[in-house]
Amino acid sequence: CGIVGYAGPSEASGRPLDVVLEGLGRLEYRGYDSAGVALVAPDQSTVATAKKSGKLVKLVDELQARPLPAATAAIGHTRWATHGAPNDTNAHPHLADDGRLAVIHNGIVENFAVLKEELLADGATFLSETDTEVAAQLLARAYRRTGNLTEAMAYVARQLEGTFTLLAVHADDPTTVVGARHDSPLVVGLGEGENFLGSDVAAFIASTKDALELGQDQIVTITPDTVEVTDFHGNPAEATRFTVDWDA
Ligand code: GLU
Repeated sequence: CGIVGYAGPSEASGRPLDVVLEGLGRLEYRGYDSAGVALVAPDQSTVATAKKSGKLVKLVDELQARPLPAATAAIGHTRWATHGAPNDTNAHPHLADDGRLAVIHNGIVENFAVLKEELLADGATFLSETDTEVAAQLLARAYRRTGNLTEAMAYVARQLEGTFTLLAVHADDPTTVVGARHDSPLVVGLGEGENFLGSDVAAFIASTKDALELGQDQIVTITPDTVEVTDFHGNPAEATRFTVDWDA
C-alpha cells in the first residue's frame, strides 16, 4: 500500500536503506500487513532483500538480526494483500532473473491468471501466490530480451491489466530505479545527487520538497543525477513539477 524508491551516489552506503525505512514509516498511516526492502550495490551480483509480515518494526528487527550490505539504490514496500495471504513469502519485493531483479507493486494485476499460465508453460517457477510475481517474471523475460530495464518495464506495463504502481531494481544497474504507474499514484522527489520515488510525497518529505507528479500511464527512470519520463511506448513524456507545501 506504500512504495518508496531511492537512487543515490555510486558509493555504497547506509543511506538508501535509511531513506526507504524512513519513507515506509511515513506511509504507515495508509495501513498495511507486511513490509519489505530490496537493495542493490555495484559489488553485489544479486539483489539483497528482507521482508516480513506484520508491522514495520518486525522488518527493522529482521534487518538488525541479519544486516544487509551497503547499497547505492533501494526500494521499499508496505503491502495490503489482495492475492495471497499476508505472510513473509507473499510480502514484496518479489525476485526474478536468478535473484538479480526485484519488483514491488501496489494495486492489482487483473489478468495475472492468464499471464501466469503462459509463464508456467514457458518454464517459469513461482514462489508466492501473488499477482505481483507475474509482473516480476514478465519483467525478467523482457529484460533478457531488451537488456534495458526501462524498455522492459514499458513492455510489462503494456501487458498488465488492472491498477499498478510498480518499481524495479536490477543488480546490473545498481544506481537506477525504474517505475511505472497506471491508475495508481507515483511521485518523484528531486534531490541533489540523489532522487526519490514514492506513492505519495510523505515517502521523501524528510529529504526534499522538490517533486514531480507523474501523469497517467508513465514510466520513470531515476538515477542519482537524472530523471527520465516516457509513456508506455518509450516516447518522452511530461511530468508536472511542484513544491511540497507542508513540513516534515
Ligand atoms: N496485489 C498485490 C499483492 O497482493 C499488491 C497489494 C498492494 O497494493 O499492496 O501482493
